[in-house]
Amino acid sequence: MITEEKKTCYFCANGIEEVDFLNLALLKKFINQRGKIINPKRTGTCSKHQRKIATAIKRARTVALLSPSYK
Ligand SMILES: [Zn+2]
Repeated sequence: MITEEKKTCYFCANGIEEVDFLNLALLKKFINQRGKIINPKRTGTCSKHQRKIATAIKRARTVALLSPSYK
């Protein structure tokens, strides 16, 4: 079932310009249990910030703060 829930970009709503890759609690909101980046359509993140999240998550993986996606 499709929910027509109106979602706003978390970062735009909170006036966050840069995504801190050390902020794991935040990054984890945007990855699923397998460690994959959740579709921005589901999180409501705009493309501008989605790109920043993706970069932050990749960076966090590089420094092994986040485990790479399983499987
Ligand atoms: Zn945004």
